[in-house]
Amino acid sequence: MSVADNLNTVLQQIRDAESKANRPADSVQLLAVSKRHSAEKIIEAYQAGQHVFAENYLQEALYKIQQLQEYDIEWHFIGSIQSNKTRKIAENFAWVHSVSRFKIAERLSQQRPSDLADLNICIEVNIDAESSKSGVMPDELLPLAIQIAQLPHIKLRGLMVIPKFYETHEEQLAAFQRAANLLDDLNQHGLQLDTLSMGMSADFPAAIAAGSTMVRIGTAIFGARK
Ligand SMILES: *Cc1c(COP(=O)(O)O)cnc(C)c1O
Repeated sequence: MSVADNLNTVLQQIRDAESKANRPADSVQLLAVSKRHSAEKIIEAYQAGQHVFAENYLQEALYKIQQLQEYDIEWHFIGSIQSNKTRKIAENFAWVHSVSRFKIAERLSQQRPSDLADLNICIEVNIDAESSKSGVMPDELLPLAIQIAQLPHIKLRGLMVIPKFYETHEEQLAAFQRAANLLDDLNQHGLQLDTLSMGMSADFPAAIAAGSTMVRIGTAIFGARK
């Protein structure tokens, strides 16, 4: 299967999951996760109509952004963030999904170039409280979100989660619903958040059933990573 065929299959599966959940068509956006895949593969997806891509590793991402300058691509950063990398992230991306500390958000805010639109931010939540995973713990989310929402030059949009590997649709759904509840809770505290970044190749139908607005899909589009 070509990248274009895979992309069309995934888009159809997203539309099916939307309609099954009685959600409007196109309420879920597809982020194509291109980490560890070449610029050529990104061009294949681009020519098939996909213009939003997500990367995890900054050096690799900057190299591809440079190579693909002539294309009208919206870049999202979804990898772990060290404080000495925030400037390049603030300068080169439209969205960052993996913010889990105030200090990182503050640096992104200070370093966002003033000629660019506000940087869109999601807070990564460690939804299953796994010691191996990054993200803020659910019970520490509210004060962090309130603090981040006040920073200039960045716009807090919502939450990103990567649940544990669950076998069944029901278990996946339950984890994603906990994330959706956290977002509702923040909005009840006066924040105005519209984004749930959740769902990957193995679990995106359940994420959409729980209210995901952005699915991050790599393998199902580009194949296995090297
Ligand atoms: C790699 C990655 C994805 C994509 O995962 P696939 O299983 O290849 O679809 C999504 N989100 C994050 C944060 C990732 O690191």
